[in-house]
Amino acid sequence: MHTEIYLDANATSPVLPAALEAALAAMADCFGNPSSSHAAGLRARALREEVRACARRVVGAPEGRVMFNSGATEGIQTAVLSALCAVRAARGSGQATGDLLLFGATEHKAVPESLAHWNRLLDTRLELRVLPVDADGRHRLDVLRELAPRAAFVCTMAANNETGVVSDLDAIAAVLRECASPALWMVDCVQALGKLPLALSASRIDYAPFSGHKLYAPKGIGMLYVREGSPFTPLMCGGGQEQGQRSGTENMAGIAALGAVLRALEEGGTFRTHDALLACRARLVAALQAAFPAIVFNAPLEYALPTTLNFSVPGLSSADVLDVFDAAGMRVSAGSACSASRAAPSYVLDAMGVPAWRSASAVRMSFGPLMIDAAIDLACERIAACARALALPLLAPSTVAGESVGLVQLEHEEGDGWLLFDAASRECIAIDPPPALAERTVAMLRAGGYRLLAALATGTGGAANPAGASLCAYAAQGIAGWPDGGFEAQLEDGRRLPAVALGSDTLVRDGDDYLFGRLDNGVLGKVRFAFAGGQSPIAGTIQCDAPETELDAAALASWLAAHPDALVVDVRCAREFSVGALDLHGRAALNVPLARLTEHASHWLGTDARPLLFVCRSGARSARAARTLRGLGHQRAWSLAGGFALAE
Ligand code: PLP
Repeated sequence: MHTEIYLDANATSPVLPAALEAALAAMADCFGNPSSSHAAGLRARALREEVRACARRVVGAPEGRVMFNSGATEGIQTAVLSALCAVRAARGSGQATGDLLLFGATEHKAVPESLAHWNRLLDTRLELRVLPVDADGRHRLDVLRELAPRAAFVCTMAANNETGVVSDLDAIAAVLRECASPALWMVDCVQALGKLPLALSASRIDYAPFSGHKLYAPKGIGMLYVREGSPFTPLMCGGGQEQGQRSGTENMAGIAALGAVLRALEEGGTFRTHDALLACRARLVAALQAAFPAIVFNAPLEYALPTTLNFSVPGLSSADVLDVFDAAGMRVSAGSACSASRAAPSYVLDAMGVPAWRSASAVRMSFGPLMIDAAIDLACERIAACARALALPLLAPSTVAGESVGLVQLEHEEGDGWLLFDAASRECIAIDPPPALAERTVAMLRAGGYRLLAALATGTGGAANPAGASLCAYAAQGIAGWPDGGFEAQLEDGRRLPAVALGSDTLVRDGDDYLFGRLDNGVLGKVRFAFAGGQSPIAGTIQCDAPETELDAAALASWLAAHPDALVVDVRCAREFSVGALDLHGRAALNVPLARLTEHASHWLGTDARPLLFVCRSGARSARAARTLRGLGHQRAWSLAGGFALAE
C-alpha cells in the first residue's frame, strides 16, 4: 500500500501534533468544568480565556464577541438567527429594513439552507436572492450595488471551498458603504483562517464563523466573531456558558487544540509561508499539466488561495480521476466533499458559467499550510503514474485462459447492456446498450481503436432498435440491428440460425435472444453467454437472491489462513489496479474489474470452484460481485466488508 498523500484539506485536515497534545493535556490534567468555582474549574476557565485572547489577536478582533461553538455550521446558524431576529424586531417597531437576504452564489450550502430555514421558522418573509459571481468566481459588484440598498442581510464567503477563489471583501465593504446599505454582513471565514490576513474588528463585517477542523484542529470545535454592537441572539440556551451566548458545557479538549493551532499561527514557524505555499501549488500545476496536457483549471490561480486547485480533464470524469488517484494513495475530491453524487455538476462552477462538462468532471486538490516539499515531490511522481494508468485501454484483452473475446457490462439503472469485443480483430458488438451511456461507450471503443459491427437489442428479433441506433449514431458506424454478411450456424438441437463471427467465436440469433460461443464443425455446442434481456448472460444459470456474504476485516487473516486455495479478486477497474495493486496478508490479488465479472464468472462457475474473496476500496463493488456469484450458484464467494480502506 502507498503512503497516503492527503490533498483534501478544504474538506478537513489532520490534527496538528501540538493540538493533539493540547487536547490530551486538557482531558488529562485540565478536565475541570470552566463554570466551576473550585481550582479545577478555574484552571479550565483560564485555559479557555487564554485561547480566546489568542483567537482575538489572530483574527484581529480586540473588540466584539468571540465565542466558542461546534463549528461553522453552528456559527452560520447563530449569525442568521441573530440577523433575522433583529430585522423582525426592527420591522415590528415600524422601522424600515431591507427586504432581501442576499447571499453569494458560491456560498457553502450551510448559508442558503440556514437562511431559508430561519426565514421560514421566524416567518420573516424576506426574499432570498442570489448575488451572482463572475467567470472568475468573484462577486458581481455591479449587482451588489444595485441590490445593497434593499438588502437586510448580506452573506459572502472570504474564500471558496471548492475553487479557493478569494473574495474581494474590501470592494464589497466599499459598495455597502457607498450605498449606505442597512444590511448586516456575514463573512464565512472557514477557508480563510491561516491562509489570509484577517482584521475583523477594523472591518465592517458583523459576523464571521470559523471551523477548527479546516486548519489542523479537531472536528467539533469552532468559533464565531460578532462585531461590537451588532445584533446577537443565542442559538442555544441553558447553563449560560460563554456569558450566555452559547450554552452547553464547553468542548475543552477542542478549545485547547484550537488554541494550539492559533498559537502556532501567532508565533509563526509552524506553517509554511504564503510564498512557499504558492511554490508548492506551482509544482503541482506543472505536474498536472505535464501529465494531462489538455487539463483546464476551473478558477484563475491569481485569485485563488495558494492551497487550492480545481481542474477538469477532457474525457475523464471526476470519478475516473478520484478512483485512480485514491488507488495511488492520493486523496482528492470531486468539487465539494459534501456533494453526495460524484457525477453531479458543481453549483459553484455552474455559478461561474463554467461549461457543463467541466463542472461535472471537476476535481479539487487542496492542501494545508503544513504541506512539506517531500509530499509534493511524491504527489508529482504519482500524478504522472496516474496519468499513465488513466491512459490504459478500458477494453483490455480478456485474461480468461483460452478466450479472445471479452465481455464488458454497461451498467445502468434503466437496464444493463453488454459489449462483446475481440481484442485481436478490434471488433465489437453491443447488446442492449443503454442510450445514456452512448458517449462513454463510444469513448471506450475509440480509445481502443475498436470497430462497432452492430448494436443489438434483445426482444426485437434482431430488428433495428432505438438504443442501438443512438450508439451507432454516436459511433458513426455499426448497424442498429442484425448485421449484414452473416452466415448460418447449427445448434445442437439441429436448428440452423443466423450467425455472425466475432474473433474466433460466433454470435447466433435465436428469436429474440442471442447465444455466444465457439463453433465446432459449424455447430454451436457449449453456449458461453446467452443474452436474453434482464437475465445474467451466463448460460445455464438462474439468478436467485443471495445471502450477505461479507467477511469482516478483523477476520481476514484467519480466513486467508483457513482458505489457502482461495482466489483474492480485486474488482476495481484496471486503471486503479495498475497504480495500486493489492497484497492482502501476502496474498496477491487477481484483477477482474466489476464490469468484466460475467466474463470470468462463467469460468469460476465451471471449471474453477475455488473459494473467491472479492475486494475493492470500500466494499461496495466487492459486495455486489460476491452477491452476483452466489446468486448464480457459486456457494463460496465472499466480500471483504468495508474494503481494504479498513484492512490497511
Ligand atoms: N463554510 C465553508 C466555506 C466550508 O468549507 C465549510 C465546510 O466545508 C463550512 C462552512 C461548514 O463547516 P462545518 O461543517 O465545519 O460546520
